[in-house]
Amino acid sequence: MKKKTDAEILGADPITESIVRSTLDKVISSDLLAIFERSCPNCSWKIPSFRLEDSLACVECIPENVAREYYNTDSANPQVRLGEILENLNELRRFKKSYRIEK
Ligand SMILES: [Zn+2]
Repeated sequence: MKKKTDAEILGADPITESIVRSTLDKVISSDLLAIFERSCPNCSWKIPSFRLEDSLACVECIPENVAREYYNTDSANPQVRLGEILENLNELRRFKKSYRIEK
């Protein structure tokens, strides 16, 4: 299979395009990408499938440079880990309730 090295984004709305651009390394290395509407566990915004697979929040809640440290890593309790990441970023919103229960 030819290695993907760049991506041309066609027909995406500006927000989706900004999500794809800010996570381009991850998008290029993904076999399949979906961006789900209203599915961020913290703010209910758009979230790429690879963020959900790794139990993370959207690009607004967790900047890509922070999320990158957690891709493809295991956690004994992904909910607590997500809560801690969001708390450290001072971005704990809707997820606060789940985090408090899990912790
Ligand atoms: Zn979010």
